[in-house]
Parts: sequence; structure tokens; C-alpha cells
Amino acid sequence: MKCKYCEIELSDIDIRFGDSPEGLYMKGYCTDCYNRKDWIEENTIAIKSRDYWFKVLGMLSQNWALIDEQEGGKFKVLFINDHSNIFDELEFDSEDKAIEGLKRNDFERYADDKESQKFIPSPRPPFTLDEIMKEPKYSSGEFWK
Ligand SMILES: [Zn+2]
Repeated sequence: MKCKYCEIELSDIDIRFGDSPEGLYMKGYCTDCYNRKDWIEENTIAIKSRDYWFKVLGMLSQNWALIDEQEGGKFKVLFINDHSNIFDELEFDSEDKAIEGLKRNDFERYADDKESQKFIPSPRPPFTLDEIMKEPKYSSGEFWK
């Protein structure tokens, strides 16, 4: 069973410690997430996809993107930094167009790059949206072609 927020595999430790071990386990949170549950609930944007796209910016610095289907058939690309903060977003009419845009802007599909997977960890959920972290890097067009 995985933690509902950070998606780590829940260990025996998560089960053993805590106020009501079996309760925590049944709810599906690890102890860390359980302790900051209110903050997570308030700031997390639920993104279903874990099909990461990434662009290496420099040493130990990547921008990440996940494509999220919206109601009404639109597709939103959410841009995420290495610390799981969502900093920008772009909307497309189809998933194909979103992928086309990512490729055109030198994003690569993480799942296709076994070499990078060895030394670049993808950001972990929960993905949070904090006003202070917002940066219209791609949506402003400055770094998007
Ligand atoms: Zn967790």
C-alpha cells in the first residue's frame, strides 16, 4: 500500500508508530504526510499522470512537466521544479499538441531515457502550488517557442 500523497510504499514503521497505527495505515498516509495533512490538503494540486517530461537546465537542475487532462477535453501542461513546486502551466487543445509543444521546447520523456533515470530522480508528489513559487517562465512565451 502506498501513501496517498507522496506515493512511497508504506513500511512497517508507518504502521508501528503514530497515534493509531492501524488507523493511519488504513487511511493510506505515511507518518510524515499525516503530520502535515492539512497543509498538503490546502496546497496540493492533484495530477493523475506520472508520465514525466523533463528538460535539463544545468547541474542538478531540471524542469519537469506533467500533462493533465482537464474537464472539457483540454490538456494542461503543469511545469514543476525539482522540489515538487508547480511554477507554471500551459493549456492545449489536445494531448498530441501538448506533447508536440514539449518536444519542440527540448523536453524529453523521462520513461524513454533509462540513462537519466539512473542519476536524475523525478520530483515526488505531492505537487504543491504556492503563489510565491509561481514564475511564468513558459506561459509568458519567453522560454517557449
Ligand atoms: Zn506520504
